[in-house]
Amino acid sequence: MNKKITAIVLAAGQGKRMNIPVAKQFLILRERPVLYYSLKSFQDSLVDEIIIVTGKEQLEYCREHIVAPYPFSKVQAVIEGGKERYDSVFKALEYTTKSDYVLIHDGARPFITIEMINHIINEVKSVGACIFGTPVKDTIKVVDNDGFIKKTPDRSTLWAAQTPQAFDYLDIKRAYEKYYEDRNPNKNTITDDAMVYQEYIKKRVKIIQGDYTNIKLTTKEDIQLADKILENQTYA
Ligand code: C5P
Repeated sequence: MNKKITAIVLAAGQGKRMNIPVAKQFLILRERPVLYYSLKSFQDSLVDEIIIVTGKEQLEYCREHIVAPYPFSKVQAVIEGGKERYDSVFKALEYTTKSDYVLIHDGARPFITIEMINHIINEVKSVGACIFGTPVKDTIKVVDNDGFIKKTPDRSTLWAAQTPQAFDYLDIKRAYEKYYEDRNPNKNTITDDAMVYQEYIKKRVKIIQGDYTNIKLTTKEDIQLADKILENQTYA
């Protein structure tokens, strides 16, 4: 039986770390908004529907300037996000009612490819939960509040998590419901969806090798890098 695949593309962040007036997902790169590039890959992939999550103030802008001008027929809705990333994810999971697998993606990562999306869809169908990541290249230090190194984890076990992260829909929705039921301010800050899934569903999450170019635009330097990456790619 055909399984329904939903992509949730997150674009409700404010880009505070970049210190610019426009949120990073709406910056124009080579004449197109950053968000365009990942939407284009999802549109041309095996995904069945796309839900975009953005800020209340950006809903109209997003519908008119990012979805309408392009042939993004798979976009089902542009919905309002929440205060934190996990609030935005939960709103999208609640909005999506009939799906088998969801791919949760940061709209600030423009360089996800069609091949990567199709690859993670195949994987999630067999393992139920998987994410992209890359082995870290630098030695990573755990640092105390005074700025001194506490420990150096074994680099060969460390990967940097990327998106999309893909899950069985009912499992990840249940995980987020439990997270909200159990809201504990002392728990680690939630920075990705695999954390919520592991904590509340207690099943394994597979990590598959992503691409070092699948960067999340976070600082101003990332914009220059993104421009260079686009120089070598063709996006119709
Ligand atoms: O802030 P950070 O870089 O971790 O954001 C990752 C992604 O989550 C971005 O695409 C951003 O737009 C999105 N986000 C969101 N809702 C928030 C905060 C971030 O959709 N409240």
